[in-house]
Amino acid sequence: MITGGTGGIGKAIALKLASELGYHILLNYNSNKAAAEDIQHLIKAEGVSCDLLQCDVTNAPEVNSKLEAWAQQNPDAIVEVIINNAGITKDGLFLWTKTEDWHSVIDTSLSGFFNVTQPLLKNMLTQRYGRIINIVSLSGLKGNAGQVNYSAAKGGVIAATKALAQEIGKRKITVNAVAPGFITSNMTADLDEQELKKLIPLNRFGEAEEVASLVAFLASRNASYITGEVININGGLYS
Ligand code: NDP
Repeated sequence: MITGGTGGIGKAIALKLASELGYHILLNYNSNKAAAEDIQHLIKAEGVSCDLLQCDVTNAPEVNSKLEAWAQQNPDAIVEVIINNAGITKDGLFLWTKTEDWHSVIDTSLSGFFNVTQPLLKNMLTQRYGRIINIVSLSGLKGNAGQVNYSAAKGGVIAATKALAQEIGKRKITVNAVAPGFITSNMTADLDEQELKKLIPLNRFGEAEEVASLVAFLASRNASYITGEVININGGLYS
């Protein structure tokens, strides 16, 4: 299960989990149906199935009902891996941040994590196996001016990652966070890459596929002794 699967990073993760780990994919998206169908096509070409789950992760009743309907249609399916990747930015100085921009950013990343993970967790606990991977951000670790809302949202998910890892480790479920720096995608399309890359030791933005490789490792059986961690992937910008 991957949320925000139509974005740059989500698409790369979905394809990597399909091609490298052979996972069937449950691809969540919010608004971009055409992109979701294109990605579904690409994933099926990897020889696995791909179901689309349209829902707004901020809307808990909607998430619950869509997940329940999917589970009823797929009674034998087991969700082993959850990638909480849906996220938005509404940047601006804190003083001028609109109430709705505070809430929408926190609702998407932090409440989205809760709304999606909680209904899927019960079966994971029964199965005594699982991988939960939350896509956070450098902003959630160091804080970023102009992104107080986004930094709070991602910082909240980081704390939730560490706490949940402690609750469910005994059931062999690992919970980790991946914190990207600047990655080429729609989210960073308006940034001045030529200027910003001067700050990055590796002197470039990262690629979504590079984030996906890290996520695929954490989602694999090989990562069985890593939990409660936040793993940076930022070209050396911050550690
Ligand atoms: P994109 O803007 O390319 O993609 C965002 C994705 O989130 C889209 O699939 C969008 O779906 C989905 N989404 C947004 N709101 C909702 C919602 N309410 N419910 C369900 N899905 C939703 O961003 P990226 O791929 O770059 O970002 C992916 C994750 O990585 C985010 O959490 C982001 O914060 C994080 N990140 C990104 C960095 C970067 O440099 N790109 C750096 C650090 C972290 P749809 O299009 O269907 O509406």
